Amino acid sequence: DSKDFDSEVESICPFCGVGCQISLKVKDGKVKYVDGINGPANEGRLCVKGRFGFDYIHHDHRLTKPLIRREDAPAKGLNVDPGNWQEFFREATWDEALDKAASGMKGRGREVAGFGSAKCTNEEAYLFQKIIRQGFGHNNVDHCTRLCHASSVAALMENVGSGAVTATFNEIENADVAIVIGANPTENHPVAATYFKQFAKRGGKLIVMDPRGQALKRHSSHMLQFRPGADVSMLNAIMHVIVEEGLYDQQYIDAYTENWEAEKAHLAGFTPEKMSEICGISPEMLRDVARTFAGAKAAMIFWGMGVSQHIHGTDNSRCLISLALMTGQVGRPGSGLHPLRGQNNVQGASDAGLVPMFLPDYQSVMDDGVRSAFTEVWGSEDFSNEKGLTVTEILDAVHAGDIKSMYILGENPAMSDPDVEHARDALAKLDHLVVQDIFLTETANFADVILPASAFAEKSGTVTNTNRQVQMGRPALSPPGDAKEDWWIEVELAKRLGLGWDYGGPEDVFAEMKKNMGSLDNITWDRLATESVVTYPSLSPTDPGQPIVFGDGFPRADGRAKFTPANVIAPDEVPDAEYPMILTTGRQLEHWHTGSMTRRASVLDALQPEANCSLHPSTLRKLGVEPGGMLRLTTRRGTINVMARSDRAVAPDMVFLPFAYVEAAANILTNPAVDPYGKIPEFKFSAVRAEKA
Ligand code: SF4
Repeated sequence: DSKDFDSEVESICPFCGVGCQISLKVKDGKVKYVDGINGPANEGRLCVKGRFGFDYIHHDHRLTKPLIRREDAPAKGLNVDPGNWQEFFREATWDEALDKAASGMKGRGREVAGFGSAKCTNEEAYLFQKIIRQGFGHNNVDHCTRLCHASSVAALMENVGSGAVTATFNEIENADVAIVIGANPTENHPVAATYFKQFAKRGGKLIVMDPRGQALKRHSSHMLQFRPGADVSMLNAIMHVIVEEGLYDQQYIDAYTENWEAEKAHLAGFTPEKMSEICGISPEMLRDVARTFAGAKAAMIFWGMGVSQHIHGTDNSRCLISLALMTGQVGRPGSGLHPLRGQNNVQGASDAGLVPMFLPDYQSVMDDGVRSAFTEVWGSEDFSNEKGLTVTEILDAVHAGDIKSMYILGENPAMSDPDVEHARDALAKLDHLVVQDIFLTETANFADVILPASAFAEKSGTVTNTNRQVQMGRPALSPPGDAKEDWWIEVELAKRLGLGWDYGGPEDVFAEMKKNMGSLDNITWDRLATESVVTYPSLSPTDPGQPIVFGDGFPRADGRAKFTPANVIAPDEVPDAEYPMILTTGRQLEHWHTGSMTRRASVLDALQPEANCSLHPSTLRKLGVEPGGMLRLTTRRGTINVMARSDRAVAPDMVFLPFAYVEAAANILTNPAVDPYGKIPEFKFSAVRAEKA
């Protein structure tokens, strides 16, 4: 009841890309309760994370003072915990900490690199990329999109001309067929999954493609549990059938696409019979799926990191784009391409230019006109026209001695990067590391300066969800102790770097962003303050925004989308006698990414308190391990011990391992090989040995 609370503040859930709108109920300076409200993406619904995952903001691990590493601190390593931090760090004033943070970066040019964050607001992401570009003259700035949907964006930019979704996920209401591939929405986008289930219940055909079984299987018309890494063979076989049986939409292809003849010729060799041997799906099923999808009046394709996190992640997305184009399933109600974004603001942070090859709105750093448009607004010198280094390349450059100073805001590479010991060694090797976060994360263990920042409920700012919906986050509380809003910290740091910034608040930053971001046309801070959400593109000051785009052509030369044929490529590391099984990593419903927030949320931690992995019951029997017993997992990178669970959804030759647990960090095991286009690591496939511990 509202009389039970001191205030109720409308904001956005900080976890996944669905971007559910929430109401924070505040009493005595604390958020006591969270309710879903009627946002366009959630219509009042919330999952367990959104409803019960908020009390981390009041956790006694919150950073409340700036910290500086002691001169006599033990060697840098993953060795700090809440009980011994004083041995490593001392408290400092903001002035002292900011001066020290800036002095370790100032004048060092290409020796400096930055990781920004998809947990931050659009304004904070924009300021972060501006600090690196304006302050150091280059583009070595990236964020977790590199570990998430970088390959999807590479394929979408190449073939459609835009990295964002072509239709909101809610458009599934108007579809009669939908493919969900390499995604487990029930765990990772739970509110979106409720729309998918409703779609199936009203008779929509839901085609689920995933090497691991999952809860959506119960709602599916077709379940294709294909062999891990065999996506291209399966998708090419489906498209082969569409060509062979003349089920493609020639009129659409002629009007809106290019390179069709090459695609058609390429697909000739991918017969269902041949591809079945690679992907493990019967030719009959491949033919049935092809006919079902091509016969749809309106069809959508959703995908997740099961598609993107492969060395052939870009090829996987190229296939999905080609499938939609050849059947004319883009740009109409109930049709479209939708990579389900992971982090709540990974779309917005990418839009805001937190990537090494693009300035805001995916404008190339190599384009002289684009750079000069930005430097004019910034009142600064030109900066490098070379693409910057990506997340994994930056850490390699630290090892090579080329990068010596880093600024990391809200990311946790000491947990999230592949072959994570390599990442931790790089962090330890830096001369100077500034970490801005709300907790003393695994990455902050290695810091020289730690800047205490704000949680989502303590600041204003906009975030953009998977649906291209720009939404307003509002503060319900003040940051604890001396912690500050992230935009304020960035501005103060920039001033000490000599950049002369002067912003009164995120509103001023948003106004500056609009000058060079056409995507924000007709979207103003005042509108968002009043309406809470506007979808981009918005065609007029009163248009709530376009849920579907590209009905009349694409933002490419001649307005045409492109077919790019894809070949079958084996995973980088295939199982052998020494490492006979396949390791795949991912998330669980209750924990978010590296666990820094959800493992400090009491309900979520109580639901999933222990590091775990899942194997098929027959595999556990063979290994002589009972469910709940301990397994030793070893790859060419390292070994961890972890509790085993029995799960029939996992194929007999696979291990599924969540990456939220520092005590059994999944990324000690993962393979750092990357996709050549998106530069995304192959988190979904490593060769592993499992033994009783
Ligand atoms: Fe938050 Fe995503 Fe759950 Fe919605 S579905 S409540 S945005 S975690």
